[in-house]
Amino acid sequence: MGKKYVGKLFMGMALIFICTVYYAFISINHSGFSIFTFHTFFFMLLWSFFHSSFSEPGQVPPYWGFYMGDSENKRKRYCLLCHVFKPDRCHHCSICNRCILNMDHHCPWINNCIGFFNRKLFMLMLFYALISGYYVLCSTLPIAYSICKNSFYIRKFTNNEIVFLCINGILLFICIMLTKFTSFHVKLILKNSTTIESLENSYNSRYCISTYRNFIQVFGRQWYLWFIPYYGKAGMPAGDGISWPMINPESLDSDVNVESETNQRESSAKHVSAVSNNDVWPSENRGPSPFSVAQGDKLSVDPETDTSFIRLNPNLSN
Ligand SMILES: [Zn+2]
Ligand SMILES: [Zn+2]
Repeated sequence: MGKKYVGKLFMGMALIFICTVYYAFISINHSGFSIFTFHTFFFMLLWSFFHSSFSEPGQVPPYWGFYMGDSENKRKRYCLLCHVFKPDRCHHCSICNRCILNMDHHCPWINNCIGFFNRKLFMLMLFYALISGYYVLCSTLPIAYSICKNSFYIRKFTNNEIVFLCINGILLFICIMLTKFTSFHVKLILKNSTTIESLENSYNSRYCISTYRNFIQVFGRQWYLWFIPYYGKAGMPAGDGISWPMINPESLDSDVNVESETNQRESSAKHVSAVSNNDVWPSENRGPSPFSVAQGDKLSVDPETDTSFIRLNPNLSN
């Protein structure tokens, strides 16, 4: 089994662990409503897990930045591996081996990248894992308390009780770790940042337009779809993952004044945050730009797509 399936296998084991604890110790004492509640949370967790595993995180649109009329601002960063121009906040994932729009990170647990178009699914997976975990934990706590109370004053622990307490400890540890991880990601979303920007210290505070607008850039505008791992047409994240509304620098200390979408498209690339040398294009010491057509190379126009489009690869031109 390849390395890429290890994370999914671990995640599957964690799901089975939660289920086992529930069915072995809790379900027998629970009413119908409690059982329905747990299964609803668990179903949403499974749905989020599978949907985020197989969803598209967001790829750079074909020929983006390659059109003759495109602004030079689009051509600041070039991926030498994918041969695409990289919009703001787009990064190359070395595991998926492609560029991802607004890449947050590559998640080993689902073996998929978290990007602009599936971040909500990832967050919902964390959310429902957290709720399911705490639901089981809170249900086992009264049993654990009674075991400890009786054993401490009256008798010694039996083997079964020790196993139960150990499982409870593992569950508590998982819940604490999940809480920290989820709160970290919630903070990033509310200030319109990503894990990569946080780790690289390349966060641009001008992306933080307001808590609500930051939120709907991940979860979409339709509130009734916020807690469902499904987008539909109405629930897509606000924006396109390419151009980002920003706060005017003059208004950072006063009222929030978001640049218009049209102006932003032109200005966003001017505020490219710190990027590694591999990301930057063009550069004097990196050889010719893909736009500098060598002598003898032909410029061919594709009339079916756009008359201003230039085929840059001379091998493709007739
Ligand atoms: Zn790339
Ligand atoms: Zn990836």
